[in-house]
Amino acid sequence: MTDSSACPLCSGRLRQTVSERDRDGHPLRNVLCGLCGLVHVDPMPAQTDLDTWYQHAYRTDYKGVVTPRSHHVLRAGRVALERLARIRPLLADRPCALDVGAGGGETLYLMIHAAGLPAEGLEPNQGYGDHARQRLGLPVRQGFVERDARSAGAYRLITLYHVLEHLAAPRAVIEVLRDWLAPGGHLVIEVPNAEATCQSPAHSFHRAHLTTWGVPTLSRLGIACGLSVASTWTSPGGGNIQVVFRRDATAPLAPLTVLDEITRHYPARVAQVLSGHTPLRHWASGRPLTRLAARLGRQIGERVRVRGQADPRAILDSLVADWARPGTGLRTGEPGR
Ligand SMILES: [Zn+2]
Repeated sequence: MTDSSACPLCSGRLRQTVSERDRDGHPLRNVLCGLCGLVHVDPMPAQTDLDTWYQHAYRTDYKGVVTPRSHHVLRAGRVALERLARIRPLLADRPCALDVGAGGGETLYLMIHAAGLPAEGLEPNQGYGDHARQRLGLPVRQGFVERDARSAGAYRLITLYHVLEHLAAPRAVIEVLRDWLAPGGHLVIEVPNAEATCQSPAHSFHRAHLTTWGVPTLSRLGIACGLSVASTWTSPGGGNIQVVFRRDATAPLAPLTVLDEITRHYPARVAQVLSGHTPLRHWASGRPLTRLAARLGRQIGERVRVRGQADPRAILDSLVADWARPGTGLRTGEPGR
């Protein structure tokens, strides 16, 4: 452990290095906070560089496209349908909703056209935002939470799917989103799991993922921002976690001793998982072949289903029909890792 820059969650300075490379083999240091268990990159990139990258280059760097292709729309739409199915009870009374980091708009489209929500989106990327607005006709504003003006208490549901891990200052963003929630409203956050062992150890860290969370660290973040934990979920393969937070009408901020207790044993647990996730154990588990076969099968199926279909609305409308038949066409996947 060394004393260095502060943890973005607990401001602690006790940490240990857990990785020196990203999944592409490029230099990237990730450290584990010895006080709360958050894994984060060190040093953190400058906010202005991040803003420019997400606005103009992230999608082309990540997927090699300016706007999503048809099979991307189908894949993202299927994942969105599963996400909405997991929070179906929260959608019953059609809450006014905001999808933060709306991407190509698949989740927002299904919120509006499948679940019938009055919903809108916020997306920093120019190309994907344009796609959502122009091809899907969605109310998506381009920008960042920290610099976006919205009314306090305007939403009863805010969703943040695979966004939090991209933020250099996660607590500041969650505090803004808390203020946008009406009392009794819910904030849904899904991120990759810090304890995931479904991927190769060499592929654990992506340069765009500035923080890596577990259920205890994510719960601590929300509680530190004055929210309460309504439910938690871990995907069957362990790759992703979701925490649903609720904004209570009167919630005093939790004292530091309460926050520390939430994550007291978590740093040791993460260190143990990461050190035990070796290439030998990974290959011996049989997971690489299982994942490869599943990915190939999925990609072939996606291309067959979207063949000759260039209209993203038609692709998503076919998923709206799936939503109307609960259970039909809904799988439990490992999106986003
Ligand atoms: Zn920490």
